[in-house]
Amino acid sequence: MQTVNDFNFKNEKVLIRVDFNVPLNAEFSITDDSRIAATIPTIKKILNDGGSCILMSHLGRPKEGPADKYSLKHIVNRVSELSGAKVHFAPDCIGAEATELAAALNPGEILLLENLRFYKEEEKGDVAFAEKLSKLGTFYVNDAFGTAHRAHASTAVIAQFFAGRKCFGFVMAGEIANAMKVLDNPARPFTAIVGGAKVSDKLLIIENLMSLADNIIIGGGMAYTFAKAMGGQIGKSLCEDDRMPLTLELIEKAKAKGVNLLLPSDSVVADNFANDANTAICANDAIEANYMGLDIGPDATKVFCETIRNSKTVLWNGPMGVFEMSSFEAGTKAVAQAVADVAQAGGFSLIGGGDSAAAIHKFHLADKVSYVSTGGGALLEYFEGKELPGIKAVMH
Ligand code: AMP
Repeated sequence: MQTVNDFNFKNEKVLIRVDFNVPLNAEFSITDDSRIAATIPTIKKILNDGGSCILMSHLGRPKEGPADKYSLKHIVNRVSELSGAKVHFAPDCIGAEATELAAALNPGEILLLENLRFYKEEEKGDVAFAEKLSKLGTFYVNDAFGTAHRAHASTAVIAQFFAGRKCFGFVMAGEIANAMKVLDNPARPFTAIVGGAKVSDKLLIIENLMSLADNIIIGGGMAYTFAKAMGGQIGKSLCEDDRMPLTLELIEKAKAKGVNLLLPSDSVVADNFANDANTAICANDAIEANYMGLDIGPDATKVFCETIRNSKTVLWNGPMGVFEMSSFEAGTKAVAQAVADVAQAGGFSLIGGGDSAAAIHKFHLADKVSYVSTGGGALLEYFEGKELPGIKAVMH
């Protein structure tokens, strides 16, 4: 795997696909700049070598062409502050003005291109559009893990125009290296924790993990589809009836493969989806008709945490309950602590993006685990065993 550390970028104009899809408030101020901050080391390496950077990104989901609220002009100042470099802005990502600005770019300077998704060709992976973008630079760097599972023009298709002149930035390299620690000969026991609302989103990852993990812990809303399929009463809990046969297949598969599949024995149940609802603890297969399971219960928490603490490698994707509400955060919080304890004891714990990343930040444990991935969908697909287009295009 080649990274920016393997090249010297003196006098190169480096096209970098970054993930600057940052949240903006109503006044177009950035409310969380961590995605920009994450890419600064890659940018600085290139600028310090005496190269210049042409940054390309998407922002939001523009439907029909340019829209002011999705303009990357809103983030020019922050990129300049964080990088300490002069940042020019191209109000169209291709065309005469972008070409002139790119040609005039001096070593040590940055050119930020307008939102790639103002062109529908970006998401379509249009080759002619990718070629136009490619003409702006002399070298291609992909540092956007969050879009690595997409075969878009700027994330994958463009790489064909840079044979021998392409590599990964530090964000991508870090994501890949940490995922590999889990996928490639992990220290055992290896425990995968899969939670979240819907089992349909996680079936593929659970299936793929069957060939990798020693223990698979299932929590969150998805556990109730398993419970009902096994004949349990789950009241008003989340359930995907059409997926019940598949959950039974997964249970059988785990038995056949000798994988220890752990389902929660009990739940914190509530009579309402609200923080001030009436709550009780009850067995997962005996939830009363007017109650719903919103967190794993104390027995399940104890068993799950013991299994996690006895592991050398842990992958965690998806919360154990509705951790956003304090009444239903205990299970997720305890699991987060156990996952942190593994890393503190010398093991390796990887947190898959999205809601588990939000949970680990909420409980102030992000710096106590081995790695928190930034790419929800991309990481999920990686662990589903799929080859990510953004990675493949740079590797080959
Ligand atoms: P996902 O995006 O599929 O990982 O799901 C994350 C969401 O699932 C979070 O917002 C949680 O609040 C929600 N969630 C977790 N457990 C439950 C549950 N038992 N019932 C309803 N929602 C849940």
